[in-house]
Amino acid sequence: MAKHKTHYEDCDVLVVGGGMAGTGAAFEARHWGRDLKIVCVEKANIDRSGAVAQGLYAINCYMGMQWGENQPEDHVRYARNDLMGMVREDLGYDMARHVDSTVHMFDEWGLPMMKNEKTGRYLREGKWQIMIHGESYKPIVAEAAKKSADKIYNRIMVTHLLMDEEKENRVGGAVGFNMRTGDFHIFRAKTVIVAAGGASHIFKPRAVGEGMGRTWYAPWSNGSAYALPIAVGAKMTQMENRIVLCRFKDGYGPVGAYFLHLKTYTQNANGENYEKKWYDQTKELVGEYIDHHPTPTCLRNHAFIQETMAGGGPIQMVTTEAFQDPHLETVGWENFLGMTVGQAVVWASQNIDPKYTNPELTTSEPYVMGSHATCSGAWVSGPEDLSPPEYFWGYNRMLTVDGLFGAGDTVGGSAHKFSSGSFTEGRLAAKAAVKYIEDKKADGIKVTDKQCEDFKEVIFKPLETYTVAQNEITGGTVSPSYISPIQGLQRLQRIMDEYVGGIATNYMTNGNMLKRGLELLAWLEEDLEKVGAEDLHQLMRAWELKHRALTSQCVTEHTMFREETRWPGYYYRGDHMKLDDENWHCLTVSRRDPNTGKFTMEKIPVYHIVDENEKKQAS
Ligand SMILES: Cc1cc2nc3c(=O)[nH]c(=O)nc-3n(C[C@H](O)[C@H](O)[C@H](O)COP(=O)(O)OP(=O)(O)OC[C@H]3O[C@@H](n4cnc5c(N)ncnc54)[C@H](O)[C@@H]3O)c2cc1C
Repeated sequence: MAKHKTHYEDCDVLVVGGGMAGTGAAFEARHWGRDLKIVCVEKANIDRSGAVAQGLYAINCYMGMQWGENQPEDHVRYARNDLMGMVREDLGYDMARHVDSTVHMFDEWGLPMMKNEKTGRYLREGKWQIMIHGESYKPIVAEAAKKSADKIYNRIMVTHLLMDEEKENRVGGAVGFNMRTGDFHIFRAKTVIVAAGGASHIFKPRAVGEGMGRTWYAPWSNGSAYALPIAVGAKMTQMENRIVLCRFKDGYGPVGAYFLHLKTYTQNANGENYEKKWYDQTKELVGEYIDHHPTPTCLRNHAFIQETMAGGGPIQMVTTEAFQDPHLETVGWENFLGMTVGQAVVWASQNIDPKYTNPELTTSEPYVMGSHATCSGAWVSGPEDLSPPEYFWGYNRMLTVDGLFGAGDTVGGSAHKFSSGSFTEGRLAAKAAVKYIEDKKADGIKVTDKQCEDFKEVIFKPLETYTVAQNEITGGTVSPSYISPIQGLQRLQRIMDEYVGGIATNYMTNGNMLKRGLELLAWLEEDLEKVGAEDLHQLMRAWELKHRALTSQCVTEHTMFREETRWPGYYYRGDHMKLDDENWHCLTVSRRDPNTGKFTMEKIPVYHIVDENEKKQAS
């Protein structure tokens, strides 16, 4: 252990993850906490980290309140509809009422925004999206964070949260290691804001072998946002609400601009509108939700999946009409250049010119995240002016562990935040974290050296395991005494894929499969004690895997608990194929006991806050 030098950093606000939410948190923490010490720790380099690393072509959440385009209530209705009723409306409203101010700052900071030449307003792509030249989106927000924080640590992976030893259930900081130097870092902090992004690669991806990194979701997002709080007993919500994306095949290029701006549409291999064909069958499963506008994302996936299973594939995007217009053709290609260059390369390699060939679409493997058309994540307090008592415990975006806050993909229940909403939520969390410190709620935190030293041993153990066990390698990388991170990852992905509703079963699972999945995950957990790392990069892989495995357990427990198919197209409970509003119009919440590792589950009412007053007045 002596070879891993220890560094101490004491601070007031510690931001874990410098993506969209983390940069927002660092920026806002400085605004409210002029004299506070603010530190941000990032696994990669905040200039190009997180889901926005490559840039984006659209900001997907902008109300346009200054022009009366949309109001926060409209956004709540939209997210509620898309998630089949299951959102935290207090959180959604709170984000929506602040998101425009975030976008206006991006504009001031130099993010090139496209403008509507006729109106002078931001150019809309759809009701909620505005178009940007966003290749440099991430460096721009990173600059704001760098100017605000006292210190940004790049290349440090946070592996564990520290807990206060004086007062139960209060956070005390975090620990991690530098992936370049191998040094051990202890951050003792009064508050911690976890903003570590979502989780890809917990389900087996469609692209394996040489194409393994090619997933829709950023491959480096490994579920730390969930594993860190789960490990210390924070409650989680809606973890069963994994997301499946319908995207261009193999490159996962975005389809939003195609549908909304280019007005392209989908068809089956025979040129038919297949969505219509599945209307009656879907209505049988979910009732009137299929008549909602816009059609919920999961239900559009459902039609796609059913059509493919019925032999109607490949499903195509009809681009050949729109691409005859040179302007739209340019927009179509630029859409990829700003965020998913890989899709253009895939088409070139497969000889697809969308002007003459309609490209194929696919449904992705499932991912876990809290900011897109899905809302898995931590169970947090809402804002005091909006939240019903069950949703409020003092500080906005604080988890059920005192002093621990979340934002972006970390936070559950508040879907459709996207990049701008995640940054906004980081701001909201930071404002509340500063208030928590000012209210003296963080006084007297005690974190002993022993707690930190114990973690140091645990963190570097995979290096020790490898050093000893490599002597027993029987061939290649096979050894009876250790499991490598890639072996563990592939085992995890197969369990999730085959038992928890991945692509192997066309997203189908049931109570028995989930039970078996949980058994296999428990054995994996046991074996991960023997994960070996031959270098620092593999050490990172080992910890990413452990975080993914813990996240997966939580997803599986949640999927088992909700005995209905709430989101057909995201996953199916074969033993409960119908949506069941009578028993399951509620949010699911879990807690893992840090001492026993056992999960307990509960149902919490979903309160429909928007339109409720109108309804009451009408009755
Ligand atoms: C493919 C894709 C396309 C999208 N397209 C759009 C779009 O067009 N428009 C739009 O507005 N939004 C879009 N989004 C949504 C947007 O990117 C996310 O909502 C947003 O990035 C979420 O912010 P976040 O901070 O929670 O996560 P991220 O931005 O992913 O940031 C998480 C950060 O945490 C770091 N981290 C992770 N683990 C650790 C750890 N253990 N220790 C330290 N650091 C850690 C990561 O390196 C990363 O920097 C898209 C998302 C994806 C995945």
